[in-house]
Amino acid sequence: MFESFWRTVGERSTIVIPGWKTMSYFSDVRSVCWFLETEFADEVRRLHRLVGNAKVDDGRSIVVGTGSTQLFQAALYALSPLDGPEPVNVVSAVPYYSSYLAVTDFLKSRLYKWAGDACGFPGDDSPYIEIVTSPNNPDGFTRKAIVNGSCGKTIHDLAYYWPQYTAITEEADHDIMLFTVSKSTGHAGTRIGWALVKDEEVAKRMTKFIEINTIGVSKDSQLRAARILKVISDGHEWPVTDGTERFFEYGRRMMTDRWERLREVVRSTSRFSLPQFTPAFCKFAGETTETHPAFAWLKCEMEGVEDCEGYLKSHKILTRSGKHFGMDIKHVRVSMLDRDEIFDLFLERLANL
Ligand code: PMP
Repeated sequence: MFESFWRTVGERSTIVIPGWKTMSYFSDVRSVCWFLETEFADEVRRLHRLVGNAKVDDGRSIVVGTGSTQLFQAALYALSPLDGPEPVNVVSAVPYYSSYLAVTDFLKSRLYKWAGDACGFPGDDSPYIEIVTSPNNPDGFTRKAIVNGSCGKTIHDLAYYWPQYTAITEEADHDIMLFTVSKSTGHAGTRIGWALVKDEEVAKRMTKFIEINTIGVSKDSQLRAARILKVISDGHEWPVTDGTERFFEYGRRMMTDRWERLREVVRSTSRFSLPQFTPAFCKFAGETTETHPAFAWLKCEMEGVEDCEGYLKSHKILTRSGKHFGMDIKHVRVSMLDRDEIFDLFLERLANL
């Protein structure tokens, strides 16, 4: 969906990397994250200060990752007791982002294991890790940690806490906050994410994980991501002279349009339902804004149809079943971020059911 914005930006978002540049493993050996490019770190801080969605000062470290997926694994490693009698439980409230389960259990680690739904998880005095995704993938709701144990650690995945999706109501201030260009700017293929980490020891352990895993993170990608973030911040901080729309206004306009059209189709068919969100005051936009998640969490309301994914597939609509997110198969997740042609086709097919 964001591709059409970046086409209008043209040369300003282009970078050229000569053959002799970015050759070393190292970026800044004095930094906790020694493979973090300074240019990228500067643009990350600048964008967060502009949007006001996360605290970046007070000694917080930035750790860069090959997507936030690598940072999630680094955070699991960093937060797990190394000498525990058994793997630490990892939980997240249903419906949760399906990759957490897959990634946590893939290597059958002795450090951590997936324990499913955070709701009802006993908050006793044994260690656990809770993942809080806000706004949530797949359903779009704003979330807070729910397990109330004395030995719990949290990882906040804030991939969607940007103004095109939701109101920016406060500067998030959690121990580990994960972000990614995949969802903020649309550059999933660049494979760049970043973590804002309060505790320097945790940041060092996350860095160690990435050192062992991939000996750092592509500098070429970091420089590209830095330029992409810079174009966004420049656009919002300086008066636009060439008629290009500002990124978050573009994103919000597109999401508003798509959600209005989807809700209209869903209303007219009366076979499905969608979550309802309460508008909130967005400090970035300076006005009350609606929530427009990156995914539609669609529920099949038809008598006799249990498997919503299968039903939609038989009508040439590809979705992901609720079962992958720890929920029932009456729910499916639909992407709201595809290219215009695909999204239009999806609405057309849904309307014709
Ligand atoms: N967290 C959430 C909540 C996501 O939805 C996604 C992408 N679907 C990711 C992380 C993955 O991000 P990345 O591409 O940076 O690995």
